[in-house]
Amino acid sequence: MIIIMQVGASAAQISAVIARVKQLGFQAHLSEGEERSIIGVIGEDRKVEDPDQFTLMEGVERVMRVSHPYKLASREFHPQDTLVALNGTKVGGKQIVLIAGPCSVESRSQILEIAHAVKEAGATALRGGAFKPRTSPYSFQGLGEKGLELLAEARQQTGLPVVTEVMEPGLVPLVAKYADVLQIGARNMQNYALLHAAGASQHTVLLKRGMMSTMEELLMSAEYILSHGNNRVILCERGIRTFETYTRNTFDINAIPVLKARTHLPIIADPSHATGKWEYVHAASRAAIAAGADGLIVEVHNCPEQALSDGAQSLRPEKFAQLVQQVRRIAEAVDRTV
Ligand code: PEP
Ligand code: MN
Repeated sequence: MIIIMQVGASAAQISAVIARVKQLGFQAHLSEGEERSIIGVIGEDRKVEDPDQFTLMEGVERVMRVSHPYKLASREFHPQDTLVALNGTKVGGKQIVLIAGPCSVESRSQILEIAHAVKEAGATALRGGAFKPRTSPYSFQGLGEKGLELLAEARQQTGLPVVTEVMEPGLVPLVAKYADVLQIGARNMQNYALLHAAGASQHTVLLKRGMMSTMEELLMSAEYILSHGNNRVILCERGIRTFETYTRNTFDINAIPVLKARTHLPIIADPSHATGKWEYVHAASRAAIAAGADGLIVEVHNCPEQALSDGAQSLRPEKFAQLVQQVRRIAEAVDRTV
């Protein structure tokens, strides 16, 4: 349930409503818009016997039941777009963010070379996994903390903020010490302990859609993070499993406009995992930006044929530079900038 305050409702009126919500045993989350404030009533709100009691309070315009299970993530609760700060830019604003880098951090020379190349090409942030979720326990698992240190060195040299994956709740403090953005991968989208830990950290989170998850499930996972009062959440469409085998996943382009309509959170696309083949990454990226995505996260490798993970879907730096030029033109057509 959400309580929509009148335009110009006073701070005292807002506080009184919040106090009443808490008195009834619910959590209250305040969304302060440019025009009006909205109070989210969080908990089993079906148990509020008489929602009209709020309508009678001073400063309240109306009370609305939110029919979907996610509340804080919904557009109703927060009508304006949430902008997530990322090193001077704002994800979800007019500028398209381009996060680029290797699937995994493999060595000092590898990550530094790629970081400089993507920076040169126009990237906004650097990606690179230090803790890798691999299907096989025999595959390269990442460099762990050493990888985080190398990412920090790359950030220091290039000024690019770092996006890197965290796979377990206990590692959130360590990864947050090095990373600007905590990535929660597709396989962990419903790792609720991890979502709680990432929410509690108050760190910026990039939440990827599970490969077999609905958009509603993605929004419910975002809700876990938001329930900690952490609204620094960026969603990511990275392709879902279908019967199709010519691509690694099926890029669900629908997710971009649908999520834009349903949530205030920014949404970016991962054309690399969505297609699994570098030769389709340009087309999927252009489509994502045309559809309204707030940015891209793209895998780039200086030597894809020797990559320890995801070489087949990684762009060489010069291909990434071409991609930036293409995205710039599409962005202009949809009134965005790069
Ligand atoms: C990745 O970004 O390298 C990754 C493992 O992505 P996903 O969780 O989407 O599979
Ligand atoms: Mn990868």
